[in-house]
Amino acid sequence: MAVAAGVGPQLFGIAAATVLAVFFLATVLGRRRRRGAPVVKRKTAPEADCAAAGGDVAAGDAGTDVIIVGAGVAGSALAYTLGKDGRRVHVIERDLTEPDRIVGELLQPGGYLKLIELGLQDCVEEIDAQRVLGYALFKDGKNTKLSYPLEKFHSDVAGRSFHNGRFIQRMRQKAASLPNVQLEQGTVTSLLEENGTVKGVQYKNKSGEELKAYAPLTIVCDGCFSNLRRALCSPKVDVPSCFVGLVLENCHLPHPNHGHVILANPSPILFYPISSTEVRCLVDVPGQKVPSIASGEMANYLKTVVAPQIPPEIYDSFVAAIDKGSIRTMPNRSMPAAPHPTPGALLMGDAFNMRHPLTGGGMTVALSDIVVLRNLLKPLRNLHDASSLCSYLESFYTLRKPVASTINTLAGALYKVFSASPDQARNEMRQACFDYLSLGGVFSNGPIALLSGLNPRPLSLVAHFFAVAIYGVGRLMLPLPSPKRMWIGARLISGACGIILPIIKAEGVRQMFFPATVPAYYRAPKDKTAPAPLA
Ligand SMILES: Cc1cc2nc3c(=O)[nH]c(=O)nc-3n(C[C@H](O)[C@H](O)[C@H](O)COP(=O)(O)OP(=O)(O)OC[C@H]3O[C@@H](n4cnc5c(N)ncnc54)[C@H](O)[C@@H]3O)c2cc1C
Repeated sequence: MAVAAGVGPQLFGIAAATVLAVFFLATVLGRRRRRGAPVVKRKTAPEADCAAAGGDVAAGDAGTDVIIVGAGVAGSALAYTLGKDGRRVHVIERDLTEPDRIVGELLQPGGYLKLIELGLQDCVEEIDAQRVLGYALFKDGKNTKLSYPLEKFHSDVAGRSFHNGRFIQRMRQKAASLPNVQLEQGTVTSLLEENGTVKGVQYKNKSGEELKAYAPLTIVCDGCFSNLRRALCSPKVDVPSCFVGLVLENCHLPHPNHGHVILANPSPILFYPISSTEVRCLVDVPGQKVPSIASGEMANYLKTVVAPQIPPEIYDSFVAAIDKGSIRTMPNRSMPAAPHPTPGALLMGDAFNMRHPLTGGGMTVALSDIVVLRNLLKPLRNLHDASSLCSYLESFYTLRKPVASTINTLAGALYKVFSASPDQARNEMRQACFDYLSLGGVFSNGPIALLSGLNPRPLSLVAHFFAVAIYGVGRLMLPLPSPKRMWIGARLISGACGIILPIIKAEGVRQMFFPATVPAYYRAPKDKTAPAPLA
């Protein structure tokens, strides 16, 4: 393990980082108040929308309560969850055959806990899923192991990695086994809207017939390439990089049952098992264009640029996978949640919110959102009461924030910190991050608890992020500061702010750190006999 300095300066660093974080939040909020920005009283756009929704919407399709568009990770888990709560659910999925993709293959332990809460944990059984106990981080020939802090949990709780398609099929089967869930193959082409309220969908079924389906609530879960999200949010999609996917066969990772992250040049490389005999490799390629697979440029890039940075234990399997030729690519998209709350409709999963997949947080956010929504909707037996329903859906956007925004912010910030840069200050930050995590104890447990979704607290994220920056500056000042080192240190701090502050701003400072100051947080159910949803 690389430990570059004594513990004293690091503790000082943590304290300073915490003060800095609190100062930053006070400043941001103060500025919002001075500008006359609403803190508590404004009647928000969502409230206005809900008021406009007024009375009851028209009755649904022969008793359908909820239409779900898409039966991927979010759609199928949601269908089972709402079906189990007694809702009559109609799921419309474009392709019901087993997906074969390079996405959604590592479920963090926090996501597994959500799976248990939803009663879906058996969906990772009988698919040769592998237990994941933490990460190993590699940089310049050194490596450090970061175990998930699982001591307080049941021995079954850990991350799981698997073939995404097998997991989805298990969830689809489980949802379809409920008599009140109808799973149909079809492609939804548009949402049916009347006076600003979504009443259902238009879709083409398997035989190509154009059909309409109606329900008081339509939940759109059509994934990262969503065609329908435009009607329900203001999508600002960023594509910082692409992942190039390979499968290594019969290869033994240096740290079994761990995700491996190589801090390579220009950007990180991931390895994790997806079955007892296969290891997924995802090579990050910055930008939106990747070398051509067909012309052989990609194989050449992987062999000449990437392979020399691969740990020696897996080098041969990596080259064999390139020679085998099944190379796939996928854009890495990020998109903050920016809903236009619309009566009768809701976005979930990647259609709603995306983050860089480096930290494997997408499924955890989707499952966590489903738990929030289920708890909110539980007391509302009559989904036809459009204005009540709309109020609940507004609360959803606020209640999901602390967990979702922590996972999103960590993913975006870590991707930037883990990528190489021509800027010396950025490289100091990268080295400081590796060394900070290598210190162990609270320095690795805190960040890995955030990443795993076991303790996704925004303030803890900000404190650790700035502690890394201050740790980096502290190392530059030792044994004696020089003007050049002080200048690099100043740029390191300003670079750290430049990484995390825009992400936090996009997530929404108030919703992320102070959700209790948002009126929708307290919106009470109209059904007076029902228990309060926010308990
Ligand atoms: C390269 C990469 C790697 C990733 N790795 C991880 C990881 O290891 N761990 C993790 O947690 N997350 C990971 N993610 C993110 C994760 O894959 C997503 O967060 C997750 O799949 C979102 O689920 P979803 O249900 O929203 O979308 P999807 O799982 O993509 O499901 C969308 C579904 O909608 C269907 N559909 C689309 N359009 C229509 C239509 N018009 N009508 C009917 N059906 C439609 C599709 O067929 C599909 O079944 C990764 C992402 C990428 C890009």
